[in-house]
Amino acid sequence: MNDKIYLTIPSTCPICGGNTEIKQDNDSKVLVCTNDNCKGKLLGKLTHFVSKNVINIDGLSEATLEKFIELGWLTSFEDIFTLKDYVSEMVKLEGFGETSVNKLLNAIETSKSTTLDRFIYALSIPLIGRSASKTIAKFFYGDFDLFYKALTNPFDWTALDDFGETMNDSIIEYTVDNHNMVRNLARYFTFEKPNVTSNSNILTGLTFVITGNLNHFTNRDEAKEKIESLGGKVSGSVSAKTSYLVNNDINSTSGKNKKAKELGVNIIDEAELLKMINN
Ligand SMILES: [Zn+2]
Repeated sequence: MNDKIYLTIPSTCPICGGNTEIKQDNDSKVLVCTNDNCKGKLLGKLTHFVSKNVINIDGLSEATLEKFIELGWLTSFEDIFTLKDYVSEMVKLEGFGETSVNKLLNAIETSKSTTLDRFIYALSIPLIGRSASKTIAKFFYGDFDLFYKALTNPFDWTALDDFGETMNDSIIEYTVDNHNMVRNLARYFTFEKPNVTSNSNILTGLTFVITGNLNHFTNRDEAKEKIESLGGKVSGSVSAKTSYLVNNDINSTSGKNKKAKELGVNIIDEAELLKMINN
């Protein structure tokens, strides 16, 4: 069985007629349409977004999504959450009664309670699949604000387990065009904190450097003790291995702040540290 199969690779997208391009996606090469406004691409992204493992919206099958795109009701992820504006028209569609429309609207409401890893996975960031999304969510402690801060500030994504340069570049490239969309989309969601059965190891794998004055903790030693009791490490100097620099004066020009910025280490204040600790 050594027969080779030769495929003709289309140079234009069968849906929008846009140019195609071969891109590397993890270990495989995929043919993609380069038109950002391609309805076929939108359908693919929306189908992924609503699927069970992701945002999980029952009642939005691929065929339904396609119909809503054609009707102009869906042009983005956010539009899913304004579908209720079209209820009067929706109930008149073939195959949609009041019951199924109500079911759909309920499913959309329910989906607004999600976890950060599902949300990140839903975005279809190139190279960021389910497991990478989980790694990111874990790193930022399931907290959207921490994640968003890293997204919009210089941050070295290779600090995360199994993240290499190409993944780092992919996230940064994605952020350029999409950070506003990500922020606006997140406003529809409440992020459940990950289930931690035991609180004793919630900071495992994270290394902190603490600098400057503290307000909640009496002193740095007290903060250090607390972090270590939760499995985290505290180090005296900022390096590429630092997960977070804790500093209440984010704009400080201290050596540690400078170093952290140079290395793309996340700088958080005490309130953000407490948020991680108090889960
Ligand atoms: Zn296309």
